[in-house]
Amino acid sequence: MSDKSKKIGSYDKEFVWHPFTQMKDYEEKEPIVIESAEGSYLIDSEGKKYIDGVSSLWVNVHGHKVPEIDEAIQEQVKQISHSTLLGITNPPAAELAKELIDICPPGLKKVFYSGDGASAVEVAIKMAFQYWQNKGKSEKKKFLCLDNGYHGDTLGAVSVGGIDIFHKTFAPLLFETFRAPSYYCYRCPLNKTYPSCNIACADELGKILEENNEEIAAVIFEPYVQAAGGMIVSPEGYLKKVRDYCDKYDVLMILDEVATGFGRTGKMFACEHEDVTPDMLVLGKGLTGGYLPLSATITTQKIYDEFLGNYDEYKTFFHGHSYAGNPLSCAASRGNLKAFENNNTLEKLQYKIDYLEKELKEFEGLEHVGNVRNKGFMVGIELVQDKENKTPYKSNLKMGSKVADKALEDEVLLRPLGDVVVLMPPLGIEMDDLKKLVHATYKSIKEVTEDS
Ligand code: PMP
Repeated sequence: MSDKSKKIGSYDKEFVWHPFTQMKDYEEKEPIVIESAEGSYLIDSEGKKYIDGVSSLWVNVHGHKVPEIDEAIQEQVKQISHSTLLGITNPPAAELAKELIDICPPGLKKVFYSGDGASAVEVAIKMAFQYWQNKGKSEKKKFLCLDNGYHGDTLGAVSVGGIDIFHKTFAPLLFETFRAPSYYCYRCPLNKTYPSCNIACADELGKILEENNEEIAAVIFEPYVQAAGGMIVSPEGYLKKVRDYCDKYDVLMILDEVATGFGRTGKMFACEHEDVTPDMLVLGKGLTGGYLPLSATITTQKIYDEFLGNYDEYKTFFHGHSYAGNPLSCAASRGNLKAFENNNTLEKLQYKIDYLEKELKEFEGLEHVGNVRNKGFMVGIELVQDKENKTPYKSNLKMGSKVADKALEDEVLLRPLGDVVVLMPPLGIEMDDLKKLVHATYKSIKEVTEDS
């Protein structure tokens, strides 16, 4: 190992506290130091190249070093890197807002910028809450969310989250919510089977709305894929059913597409699979192609109009982050949208999804693979101790991590969710690299699970 790598490793261990990382385990290993990248590859300080199998935590879209995004940022730096969006504007923020509305489902009209996915979720929660206050329906102040949902790590986002191991510790700090079952077909919380269930989990949500709509401001969930919950994929029809219930009971629908947005499920936005327009669409991650922090809460004219009034009516949305609408981030995002167009990213993706789905069938034959699920380029492979009874592995066995460690030997970088092995490569991945990724993952799962 070079002296430089050693120095970085020692600084890192001494001074950096890593997110979602048990630092005791981390301290025992030599850190991988990513120094550069090329396309779908990350390159470490020793020159070793890894396939970026989870798109640098689900953010990267076209690969790394995308000419359109590189150029957009470089040009913007020459003009200005930041000015506030509080009361004034800047060209990339305004132009991007127009471009986003052009590609969003019809009916969405106003873009509210923030920095991270979680902040954009906070915005949606507060906006929905205040919408009803401004309308004079102040009793509508609760939220309905799903078990296994994940919306980020700030307290509002955690309140509407439903993953015990992340969220339970903070329970005393959170606001109360209504909770509907997860659309988790493999382990159906209602003990039913799709399709004969008729998507009963959506009807459970409908029942909660029927009984409590007068106090519910909004339903919030991830359309099609509960990502951090374990890449849980909803049955087709769920989304439309929930939209209908929201309309019936006059409750807003917030769709968190921080993970599913920007082509990840095969369409630009997951809600397009069922022609559903939410009242609020939350975007982040892939918004800048995986370059810079930027998120957006996009809403309708109807909601926006409820915030208009004389200053002393205090209908203003008193919320904003220092870097909201940051010109560099917005320029990067415009470069990202240009790259979608120039490369026909979505058209070319379908062939790759077809290939991936064909290959994933092979995984089902493995002895310890209980369930393989995907929507487009979002894949979850759930490992189980006993396939017949769907018995999970004991968590101290860390099977998911072991698979990821094994894949590293084949120069593939993965990050599992517990015992769900996740594949979420950049949409722009070359076919040869996609094959390499799938084969290395298969081999790693087989070796690790059949050894145990
Ligand atoms: N919503 C969803 C659906 C997510 O998957 C995530 C992050 N994984 C977030 C919100 C939070 O985004 P961020 O990490 O940028 O705050």
